[in-house]
Amino acid sequence: MNDLYELHTHLYGCLTEEDIQWLGRRKQPRWEIYKNSFLNTYSYEPDLSILKTYQIFSNEFLTEEKKQILKKFYVMDSTKYGFLEFQTCFDFIISLSYTDPEELREISKNIILRQKEIYTEYRMMFSPKISPYEFSEKLKALVEIFDIMEKQIYPKQAKLIISLNRENPLYEWQYEIVKKIQNSSDALIGIDFAGKEEGFPPKEKKEFIKKVLNDNKRNKPLLITYHVGESFSDKTPASAVRWILETVKMGVHRIAHAVALAYTEERIQNKVFYEISVERKDQLEFFLSLYETGERWIDTDYIQKQKKNLEYQNFSLIQVPYEGKEKKLYLNFLEYTIDVIKKNNTIIESCPTSNIRICGFSPLKFFVDSGLNVCLGADDPSILDTTLEKEFEYVKSILGSETAELIKKNNQEFCGVQLLKKFYNTPQNSINLSF
Ligand SMILES: [Zn+2]
Repeated sequence: MNDLYELHTHLYGCLTEEDIQWLGRRKQPRWEIYKNSFLNTYSYEPDLSILKTYQIFSNEFLTEEKKQILKKFYVMDSTKYGFLEFQTCFDFIISLSYTDPEELREISKNIILRQKEIYTEYRMMFSPKISPYEFSEKLKALVEIFDIMEKQIYPKQAKLIISLNRENPLYEWQYEIVKKIQNSSDALIGIDFAGKEEGFPPKEKKEFIKKVLNDNKRNKPLLITYHVGESFSDKTPASAVRWILETVKMGVHRIAHAVALAYTEERIQNKVFYEISVERKDQLEFFLSLYETGERWIDTDYIQKQKKNLEYQNFSLIQVPYEGKEKKLYLNFLEYTIDVIKKNNTIIESCPTSNIRICGFSPLKFFVDSGLNVCLGADDPSILDTTLEKEFEYVKSILGSETAELIKKNNQEFCGVQLLKKFYNTPQNSINLSF
């Protein structure tokens, strides 16, 4: 056991080769999921024959050689394809998994028994295709095993956060089910938004988050975490930063990744970005609304001119060169946003290895230098071939042991159980506290 608090990890990103073998053995894998994902990322079909040749999913013991073969399919070792490559690795696991109650019990049990950290928050997202009944059955099974296992591993704690599907209206009814089941659980502490960001602007969730925050005041509260600003290839850095700002303003308790905030001058210098005209229009309108609130650094003449240019360009891709007034506007906006986030005391969950593989770099140093509140997570340790201990080693190597210690304390202070206690003054008996 170590004394670390893991605040950002996904349950099915914590599997061992043995878990994966077990999944592939018990039911026929749905290879079409992996094949489609692979084709979408690399533009050619994957070769799965080696899994058969080496009888990876047989009852036989997994030798080191077999483990390496299996790992080639789900360990992300390049940075070339970013989020798409990550998704394909995860889809390998998804194609083997059915998330039926038996599977959820076995997998959760294995993962929690292996848990090294004194406290871990695991996130889990179910397929957007399942019905409310199926969602409820799966969630009940998961929560039940978490509650049992948490008692077994005491004084360690294993908490559960449900990542809702970003599609409307799925998250609405999923939340209602989570709320019901959470009442009788110590382990289930929060909700999250994860998965592909593109196409799901945070502003669409504004009313929903408001409702959850209101419910939190009356009922047993749920922590709200939100993946944002991690994958934004379809928009300009300004829009990606706006999405983060909008998420922060909604009042979620922690945001995850927010890599776009580290798109400082060096990263945008002389670059041309693209986004659809609707997104560009949203950004320009957003600038105008900020001006109305007294942000006089915004050049409204320039914005109005840009808006006029857009008038006949619905749905087309807009080219936005980051130079001159556009660049100045963006850099001022970035500074403004970071300032708001600091004043708001927003907590950012940062996952260095994950960010390096998916986004090409880790914004952690920038966050620390900017005085932002950060905590650390390993994200999907088995897909990224890391552990939380390794992530802290990385922090130590780039920022020194003092900063690493500080972030370690942050993880403790910003863990869901503590935040719920802080924000809602939750009585000790309704949430299992063992500090
Ligand atoms: Zn994540």
